[in-house]
Amino acid sequence: MRTLRSVLALLLFAAFVLPAWGAEPVTIRVGKLLDGKGGAMSDVTIVVEGSRIVGIEKTPRENPTWDLRHLTLMPGGIDTHVHIGWHFGRNGKLYDEEEKGVQKETPADTILYAADNGVETVRSGITTVQSLGAPEDAALRDAIARGILPGPRILTSLEPIADPSLTPEKIREAVRRRAEEGADVIKIFASKSIRDGGAPTLTQEQLDAACGEAKAHHLRAAVHAHGVESVRRAVLAGCTVIEHGVLLDAATLRFIAEHGTWFDPQTDLVFRNYFENKQHFVGIGNFTDEGFAQMRRAVPLALNMFKEALKTPGLKIVFGTDAVAGAHGRNFEELIYRVEKGGQDPMDAIVSATSRAAESLGLQDKIGAVASGLEADLIAVEGDPTQDINALRHVAGVMKGGKVVKNEVRCR
Ligand SMILES: [Zn+2]
Repeated sequence: MRTLRSVLALLLFAAFVLPAWGAEPVTIRVGKLLDGKGGAMSDVTIVVEGSRIVGIEKTPRENPTWDLRHLTLMPGGIDTHVHIGWHFGRNGKLYDEEEKGVQKETPADTILYAADNGVETVRSGITTVQSLGAPEDAALRDAIARGILPGPRILTSLEPIADPSLTPEKIREAVRRRAEEGADVIKIFASKSIRDGGAPTLTQEQLDAACGEAKAHHLRAAVHAHGVESVRRAVLAGCTVIEHGVLLDAATLRFIAEHGTWFDPQTDLVFRNYFENKQHFVGIGNFTDEGFAQMRRAVPLALNMFKEALKTPGLKIVFGTDAVAGAHGRNFEELIYRVEKGGQDPMDAIVSATSRAAESLGLQDKIGAVASGLEADLIAVEGDPTQDINALRHVAGVMKGGKVVKNEVRCR
């Protein structure tokens, strides 16, 4: 009888108490909170239940789950332009499947290198990326979303639309196919690479077709465009965001702003990473000595353009790095350079990589801020990045969707 009673008690305990333990809120007391929308608060406690933030308490908690009073907490970074799969293969060279003969790789290797990139990225404090993009991105996106493999939330364009010989009707077909394949965004090349001079490649009619069809499928359209002409066409076509824009002048930046088009410039990491890893790229595709010379010339142009962009009233600048092989996990370097060399206000830079980036992706109700109801994508930083942006090199803890994916917090 006693045994039966204790078995019953155990069952009741298992049925009622254990699930309650699972649902127990996690409390994180922090020295400083940056909410991702430009606000800051001192000594607050963030309450997380399951995957979401359910409260921000101003009354100090005596026994929080995590006592991070020596750290700054902010939303996880959002990088709106990466290539999550790009990697150096077994021979140390950039793996590029179009370069047959350079090296062969199994699909298993390809996806596991991409998974490595995902781990590096999320551990550096970037909890969401938009990959612009490759077909393999979808498998990684879905695997990470299953919740076991650590990595950032991934949005992907799958294979970009880049062929300038396509008719407008063929471009519409290609966009429809991407939508069916599960693309989160449509990536379009409207100009050449900066390594090839950046001249326009698509006509107004072709861009109208691409971005018009994307809109018809409720998809955003991200357009690679470097110069005045390609950017003007993309803006007029109603595309969502201009990527790069290295060759833009003040008038075209104003034109982008007036149309409410998003702008994602790159100033540093993409170039520096190519220079630092030149031997791993050179000899493949347009990674020639001339291509590298073009990139060296682009560096000061990009910086001047960025400074001009900051002065442009109403221009919606977002954070995107164009991270490729060698750059994954160093994403915040781009933001540090924007502040230190470009003169961006640190708080504005942080907003551009959190709530503003989320809004540009249409995800402002889910991520990008520390607010009740949003996903608990949080990073804990040593120091205060609004005082010294270099603090973003010291991300000690990362939580994504309420799960801790990095904990290198040192107790004080
Ligand atoms: Zn890119």
